[in-house]
Amino acid sequence: MYNKELESLPLDKLRNLQSDRLQIMLRRQYEHVPFYKKAFDEAGVDIKQIKRIEDIHKLPFTLKTDLRDNYPYHLSAVPESQFSRIHASSGTTGRPTVVTYTKNDLEVFSEVVARSLYAAGARPGMKIHNAYGYGLFTGGLGVHGGAEKMGLAVIPVSGGMTERQLTILQDFKPDVITCTPSYGQTLAEKCRERGIDVTKLNVKYAIIGAEPWTEAVRKDIETGLDVQATNIYGLSEVIGPGVSQEDVDEKGTGSYIWEDHFYPEIVDKDTKEPLPYGEEGVLVFTTLTKEAMPFCRYWTNDICTLHYDPNGKRTHIKMGDIKGRADDMLIIRGVNLFHTQVESVIESVSDLAAQYQLIVSNDGGMDKVKVKVEMKSACQDNYNTLSSARQSKLCTELQQKLSKNIKDTIGLSMAVDIVNCGDIPRSAGGKLNRIVDERK
Ligand code: ADP
Repeated sequence: MYNKELESLPLDKLRNLQSDRLQIMLRRQYEHVPFYKKAFDEAGVDIKQIKRIEDIHKLPFTLKTDLRDNYPYHLSAVPESQFSRIHASSGTTGRPTVVTYTKNDLEVFSEVVARSLYAAGARPGMKIHNAYGYGLFTGGLGVHGGAEKMGLAVIPVSGGMTERQLTILQDFKPDVITCTPSYGQTLAEKCRERGIDVTKLNVKYAIIGAEPWTEAVRKDIETGLDVQATNIYGLSEVIGPGVSQEDVDEKGTGSYIWEDHFYPEIVDKDTKEPLPYGEEGVLVFTTLTKEAMPFCRYWTNDICTLHYDPNGKRTHIKMGDIKGRADDMLIIRGVNLFHTQVESVIESVSDLAAQYQLIVSNDGGMDKVKVKVEMKSACQDNYNTLSSARQSKLCTELQQKLSKNIKDTIGLSMAVDIVNCGDIPRSAGGKLNRIVDERK
């Protein structure tokens, strides 16, 4: 463990620490953020009466719209002169939201990222190839700070320019790589295309996050780059990447949330009531130590479960994979549908990439879903050599196969549109907007 004392704190001590920190945070919000004074007063909450973390459910939620309404700095609890950094979310789901950090917040950010990198297998003295985007997005600089803190040499590659990334992977000999799942797959695929012997690369660990991914993607990246791949999760409102991390020895059992800094709850999407551990609902975070922009019960919109793992190395709670965002859950002809379900089916067709969009419409009254999906680059190369008659034959075969597999596994009929590799637009953070809702 990077910080053994805190990562293995007994639960009763952890609850005491969280309770102490919560009281300080609430006072900071009440005294310095007019939005929170109003929210607590309107909810009839006397923050002096909130002494224990277990009372947290009495407090009001903070929503993404609250950040937009208080754009850019009105939720900050410190004067602007005390900001050390300003980031903005990649805006996958709308206008970017601004987050601010004090020097101490950046210290916390580096601490939780350092813990995460350690859990993923990184050790001081290693080199890390950081392919998260540098810039307003929290990914690049967030991982950078934590890696330096732990004593890694950072190669700040940022996203894109895949050829250069391949050269760096071969020549700079990083031990660790961080990137999004889709980019990890792209790199793996390019290595295969170029005939690069990945067993000769030095890279051993891949830290993958920023968007939902599946076990099939893990397998693609692990075999395609000859690494052990673990999940990193985070969001800019809570701090950035490093809110939680999967341990390399505990793959598939969930990601540890650094609970001494971020207190998680799962609440019902509709009633907003807290749910017991193990049940699926919306993930909500209270930041316990953040100074510049502390958040009370921030509604992430991410759907998952929480559980304590009696066999885990650490005492902190784990979160399961993100199923999707609450606003991403589609109800199509009575069937609840997350795009990740379609993704799993796409992965069963070897020529198709996990780069897709679900386009929802309702022209004739009933909701309809069309899956727009890209070919894998190897399939694309082959496609480009075919006559137009054979191209359309290949597309029809792929369409029929995917459509049938979706019907068989999910139970819904969906139209399928096969598109060229790279045709679906990505946002600045490299993410793809999975759902396009055209319903009237
Ligand atoms: P946005 O994408 O909303 O502009 P961020 O860049 O802060 O803002 O992204 C945070 C969101 O990205 C999370 O709320 C979550 O939906 C998604 N995300 C981040 N890491 C992961 C992960 N490991 N697995 C699934 N989803 C993730």
